[in-house]
Amino acid sequence: VQQRTRELAHALEEIEQSKQEVMRALEKERQLNDMKTKFVTIASHEFRTPLATILSSASLIGRYTHAEEDEKRQKHVQRIKSTVTNLTEILNDFLSLGKLEEGQIRNVPIVFPVTDFCKELVDELKSVCKENQQIIYTHEGDSEVCIDRHLLKNVLINLLSNASKYSDAGKQIFLRSSKKEKTVRFEVQDQGIGIPEQDQAYVFDRFFRAHNSGTIQGTGLGLNIVKKYIQLMQGEIQLTSQLNQGTTVSLDLPNC
Ligand code: ADP
Repeated sequence: VQQRTRELAHALEEIEQSKQEVMRALEKERQLNDMKTKFVTIASHEFRTPLATILSSASLIGRYTHAEEDEKRQKHVQRIKSTVTNLTEILNDFLSLGKLEEGQIRNVPIVFPVTDFCKELVDELKSVCKENQQIIYTHEGDSEVCIDRHLLKNVLINLLSNASKYSDAGKQIFLRSSKKEKTVRFEVQDQGIGIPEQDQAYVFDRFFRAHNSGTIQGTGLGLNIVKKYIQLMQGEIQLTSQLNQGTTVSLDLPNC
């Protein structure tokens, strides 16, 4: 009887374990479904407004046929350009997240001069910035670094785009890099709307948007991706912000 009781107890334990496994799998499935629904909702919402803007600007351009209407035409061409840039950013975020989830993104450091790299990046981002918004770049120390260029570029594009998006036209943005003995430090500083103190702990969470983001377009994915990229690079990221004063994001990345 004792032997039988032991066998029964063992069988019950196994059943309990299988039950827990099934529960875990169901919970994961539920979370995945929730996430898919959220993605579809966010994607359709985020795409509808820019697509409507492009459509309306394109039809207005078609109507402005007189030579003296060139200024109006140019305004709408500019609006289409910046809207397409915005859509491309959203698409890139979605693609990066998918690749990250599938473990397709790896850290492959290479040696390169960080000053040239940053200057090129600042040049590329001129078209993203608002009127009279400038990115001012400075560097300290030796320029040769050993970091994954692709990951770094994505991180800095995300941070600088945020700095521009959450600042008014005419406000300056600062990008600083400095090479220490074993690490490379980057800082992106803006003079924008800032992040309310109670929201600061959540800005790296997927889909989180601070309460003061208002009508400024965004998915709440950028900083989540940035944080994952920094983890892949075995670096550290820190954010400090003051409401209506500005935000500074600092990165410390190992220099291999
Ligand atoms: P989003 O696509 O919404 O910009 P992010 O993940 O990049 O998503 O940022 C998350 C939230 O953090 C933003 O919605 C915004 O509220 C806040 N945020 C990020 N960067 C800044 C910044 N430089 N200034 C002010 N708020 C910011």
